Amino acid sequence: MSAGSPVMMSRVNHSEITLLRRALLRWFDRHRRPMPWRDDPQPYKVWISEVMLQQTQVATVMPYFERFIERFPAVADLASADLQDVLAVWQGLGYYSRARNLHKAAAIVMRERGGVLPRVASDWQTVPGIGPYAAGAIASIAFGEAVPAVDGNVVRVFTRLLGIRKDSTKPAVRRALTGHVAAVITPRRAGDFNQAVMELGALVCKPRNPDCKHCPLERWCVASAKGLTTQIPCRPRRKPVPHIDVAACVIRRGDWVLISRRRPDQMLGGLWEFPGGKQEPGETIEETAVREIAEEIGIEIRVTGKLGAIPHAFSHFKMTLHVFECRPVRGRARAVTVDAVKWVAPPDLRNYPFPAADLKILTWLENDHVAS
Ligand code: SF4
Repeated sequence: MSAGSPVMMSRVNHSEITLLRRALLRWFDRHRRPMPWRDDPQPYKVWISEVMLQQTQVATVMPYFERFIERFPAVADLASADLQDVLAVWQGLGYYSRARNLHKAAAIVMRERGGVLPRVASDWQTVPGIGPYAAGAIASIAFGEAVPAVDGNVVRVFTRLLGIRKDSTKPAVRRALTGHVAAVITPRRAGDFNQAVMELGALVCKPRNPDCKHCPLERWCVASAKGLTTQIPCRPRRKPVPHIDVAACVIRRGDWVLISRRRPDQMLGGLWEFPGGKQEPGETIEETAVREIAEEIGIEIRVTGKLGAIPHAFSHFKMTLHVFECRPVRGRARAVTVDAVKWVAPPDLRNYPFPAADLKILTWLENDHVAS
């Protein structure tokens, strides 16, 4: 196995595989970044960290992880907590279904497993919110099971290492890659092996400008030898991301502001927000505000000013949130299509979990942002 010849694990040269593992683990031992879940890999901490790390960078996760573990130090604490408290600690981290799934999973672990977390990847895959990648990561890092954990970093490293030019988003290519990782994983240090490949992807084999000169795998890497690092991994062209306009209403009555809670079955379910909704064809955004409040909360409002517009991106669409100051004109606020409504004194708004875009509105209110 040498540079320029495919390192296909079905045709392995065992002594080369041993050298590759050694080189990778030696690099990891020298360059691994300290992380609280890495330095103390208790199963509960590894589980929480892996869920938080889905779609989110390590640096962002770090303070959230510390706060979460301090507030819910063990699975029993998480299971017995109110979901609103879990969402409040998660507030700002995004992808709130992860928090809801963690809460649900903790209850299942207490009820069905006497508080004992699963050990093997196949059992982890039955836990809400855990897919093949997270199952492999937790089982290998916390329990040493020799199973692959293939995330975006691992796909990048292995497609380049092996010179795979097929579409890396295809399930068949993912399956083949998982097989290659399984063939080369170090049984005695399975968790470190998986983390080493991920760390290499994050620090050296980056999407742009991989630092091949300082890569411990360079001598075996097909993409580096053939100058293919800009072409691998291959992905289909991204479709344009749809954009929607949404009205959000800061409805004031005396010293109170009205907020509503999203239904549990909705995106961002369980979180509070300034009520409103999506613009329909043919209406102005002010008309959207009036219609949505009538439909959701059952009251008639008057728009008295615009506070501003907040652009926000989700994974599969972008939105502009148009924020209005409003007064109630007629009717009594009630939960018609939302989960709950509440009149809250502005200083108490921080006690409720809000999505990121609504947190920005909250900051505006705290800073007496002037309506435009
Ligand atoms: S040699 Fe370069 S392309 Fe190959 S794995 Fe290392 S950093 Fe990535």
